[in-house]
Amino acid sequence: MLSTMQDVPLTVTRILVHGALVHGKSTVTTWTGDGEPHRQTFRETGVRAVQLAHALGDELGIGRGDRVATLMWNNAEHLEAYLAIPSMGAVLHTLNLRLPADQLTWIVNHAADRVILVNGTLLPLLAPLLPQLGTVEHLVVVGAGDSSVLDAVPTDRRPQVHAYEELIAGRPTTYDWPELDEREAAAMCYTSGTTGDPKGVVYSHRSVYLHSMQVAAAESMGLTSHDTSLPVVPMFHVNAWGIPHAAFMAGINLLMPDRFLQPGPLAEMIESERPTHAAAVPTIWQGLLAELTEKPRDITCLQQVTIGGSACPPSLMKAFDEQLGVRLCHAWGMTETSPLGTIAQPPAGVTPEEEWAYRITQGRFPASVEARLIGPDGSVMPWDGVSAGELEVRGPWIAAAYYGGAGEEPLRPEDKFSPDGWLRTGDVGVISEDGFLTLTDRAKDVIKSGGEWISSVDLEGHLMAHPDVVEAAVVAVPDARWGERPLATVVLREGATTDFAALREFLAGKVAKWQLPERWTLLEEVPKTSVGKFDKKVIRRRHADGELT
Ligand code: ADP
Repeated sequence: MLSTMQDVPLTVTRILVHGALVHGKSTVTTWTGDGEPHRQTFRETGVRAVQLAHALGDELGIGRGDRVATLMWNNAEHLEAYLAIPSMGAVLHTLNLRLPADQLTWIVNHAADRVILVNGTLLPLLAPLLPQLGTVEHLVVVGAGDSSVLDAVPTDRRPQVHAYEELIAGRPTTYDWPELDEREAAAMCYTSGTTGDPKGVVYSHRSVYLHSMQVAAAESMGLTSHDTSLPVVPMFHVNAWGIPHAAFMAGINLLMPDRFLQPGPLAEMIESERPTHAAAVPTIWQGLLAELTEKPRDITCLQQVTIGGSACPPSLMKAFDEQLGVRLCHAWGMTETSPLGTIAQPPAGVTPEEEWAYRITQGRFPASVEARLIGPDGSVMPWDGVSAGELEVRGPWIAAAYYGGAGEEPLRPEDKFSPDGWLRTGDVGVISEDGFLTLTDRAKDVIKSGGEWISSVDLEGHLMAHPDVVEAAVVAVPDARWGERPLATVVLREGATTDFAALREFLAGKVAKWQLPERWTLLEEVPKTSVGKFDKKVIRRRHADGELT
């Protein structure tokens, strides 16, 4: 028997209309770096999004299913694009501005983007790629920048160039939005392609809508119109973890950092604009901690900070608790999971020690994310907190395939999707009886020593708790006797006197003796990926010979 309920599509259009109307007074503030931030209301943002949709449709000929890319920082105009492009039936394609030129070119061509909205300050990055971008017909330049860099592009390869404000000025302020199927594409994001070509994940209106509801929910980020959220995580990194959409849905005020992502300006904007929430990868919070240790400022306005993208070292969480009075909340996700997969909100009725133990896990799955662990023999492992396996997930905001290219079938590589359609995350860990996930490693980062697994994440977490260690990344290096052994690479605080023997001693007792690294290397800085995570493949490449220090 079917239900008697209405079957109304869940769309970004609905998020746009609702936010502009019901939360019209909520604000989006963009940091400008010159003292006076740019401020506009959700109502104004909604009107400007409508005008952008008219400009894209009427002037640039963008229609249903066309890809419109953004190469932009986190700012109000980017939010307008987030709302306008899917609502008109086109597909928002956020480009990661930190990718190498060849990957960026590949991605734009693969997605067949027709338009790129680009911040003026990023034109020097985009201009050299233009001769290779065969599908791009229009560039829309947002904000100030030096357009003369485009002069070097041969005229026959140069898209038409428009200025954003001029393009939207005077356009109608209402739009007869199309009736969309909730399964249509709303947005797309490419994973950073650690192996092989980048892979495109295409989010549906429905997945964005449902994910937004979860992001704001009390057991997730717990945000309402009383909050101001600072997404430091870029809008090109899995849609800034869903915060912009959730904000418009729930009226959450936004503080956008634009290109001012260094610890100094971040501290300044937090102190002066007083957001209640922020989100970013661990390296950002490491940087902020160092900044505030040197030059203390009050950031206790932050009631909660969402941290994820890579494992949060427990010592960082503790330092934020004790030195800054700010609570870091650990979350796990992937481009393929929209990204919210788990979030570590401890359950009720636990002691402070138990609460801490919950907080340093990756967190609990929401109802819409079903999870299972697959053991080395292919069987499903129990949720007992000790049986380890590869995490597989499924749910309404989890990818079922990758984009195959225009007119091509979606791609379902066997190493990424199980025969029964679950996403293989490549992450290895355990799940407790009450559904809290603890990741020990990425499958490709696990160190296999003499038939046993050593968790690089565990070693890194302990090392980063040492007062002289700023960063630590542990990778597997080949070893004639054991197959692989851990190589610990560390960045020490300026003036630190610790040596490797002392660090090894520090680890002793915290991990099993046979797990203690005998190979150590000092680094000036741990190499980072385009989204600020430790780039272990670069470290592995540099130390493939198993360097002994
Ligand atoms: P990339 O593969 O380019 O890093 P993603 O941003 O999609 O792209 O990364 C997803 C991966 O990041 C996950 O599969 C997992 O390995 C890692 N990750 C994300 N959050 C966490 C976390 N809280 N703890 C440990 N690892 C995490």
